[in-house]
Amino acid sequence: MSKTWNFGAGPAVMPHSVLVKAQKELVDYRGSGMSVMELSHRSKEFDDIINNAEANLRKLMGIPSNYKVLFLQGGATAQFSSVFLNLVGDDINRPCDYMVSGGWSDKAAAEAKKLGANVNYVFNTKSEGFTRIPPKSEWKLSPNASYLYFCDNETVHGVEFQEVPKVNCPIVCDMSSNILSRKVDVSKYDVIMAGAQKNIGPAGLTIVIIKENLIGTRLNPKVPCPLYLNYKTHGANRSLYNTPPTFGIYMAGLVFEWLLSIGGVDAISEINSRKANRLYSTINKYSNVYKAVVSPDCRSRMNVPFRVIDASGKPSKELEAEFLKGAVARRMVQLKGHRSVGGIRASIYNAMPEEGVEFLCKYMEEFARQKAKL
Ligand code: PMP
Repeated sequence: MSKTWNFGAGPAVMPHSVLVKAQKELVDYRGSGMSVMELSHRSKEFDDIINNAEANLRKLMGIPSNYKVLFLQGGATAQFSSVFLNLVGDDINRPCDYMVSGGWSDKAAAEAKKLGANVNYVFNTKSEGFTRIPPKSEWKLSPNASYLYFCDNETVHGVEFQEVPKVNCPIVCDMSSNILSRKVDVSKYDVIMAGAQKNIGPAGLTIVIIKENLIGTRLNPKVPCPLYLNYKTHGANRSLYNTPPTFGIYMAGLVFEWLLSIGGVDAISEINSRKANRLYSTINKYSNVYKAVVSPDCRSRMNVPFRVIDASGKPSKELEAEFLKGAVARRMVQLKGHRSVGGIRASIYNAMPEEGVEFLCKYMEEFARQKAKL
């Protein structure tokens, strides 16, 4: 098989060894005579799969015992609603604090607003093109918020938080695109949610890690919470109230085993830092051709957006098209920036080997040198 380097933002690259293992087991899951896809979610085999996946995720992230792990459907998008409906509390007028550092937190805030939330923007950098995280001195926190919401890593804009905000209310964090990429102290969060299709497995699975005392305790009778979106439904039934995304959970379990086998989050975190440093330093070295748009103190280690610029320093759609064409010719795919921002974006999740980043950087160097000659 010829090698394609997939820099897609999600669905994204999977660890090769995980795919090979899944392939081996696909038709006959460990002697059951059935595919994982055919197993009942109430079978002994599947019970082992979901229990192992949960145990290994707990091990990888050091999830305290007073947190539940939920395996859901609906993507992180469904969580935009769930968060508000479950945490609104008695008083719907109490502010819900949102830090808007990119397109995804912006969408989450808009959804909560639509459902009736009194959204307070702690900050919103949309008018600046989402290129920085303002210093604390600029934050407008509510003294009595129902919760504080933020997106740890903005997949489209490439903005990543470097610390957990310190507040007195529950903290909700969208970790869709950087979960398991570095060590986090789960006890500093109240709800962590993540779509699987970046660092965990195939699309279709969403993971929620939630402090037990928030499950079912902050619902508001005047704000009906659909059965599926209610954390209580899943928390009380070990994610088996209805049919969970069984194949996705199985694949996530294999990814967790892979991550443990290579040394866990500490090991991958080091690798991720090396990959990001290599890429950002290539962008910086050839600053006459490439430009990183995000402020250096919050540049994402997972999604690296940059522009290809012309001699006057302006982003050039023509040069970017040429860059992308050359990349595809070398079998590097999905490097086109999100349609809302343009430019180039390289997503370099856990499963992207250092070799892939090296291959991209070599091409960037070659492209830049060629431009310098003209
Ligand atoms: N949050 C972030 C940070 C994302 O990257 C995405 C999807 N790319 C979403 C939320 C939405 O997730 P989903 O497509 O799983 O609903």
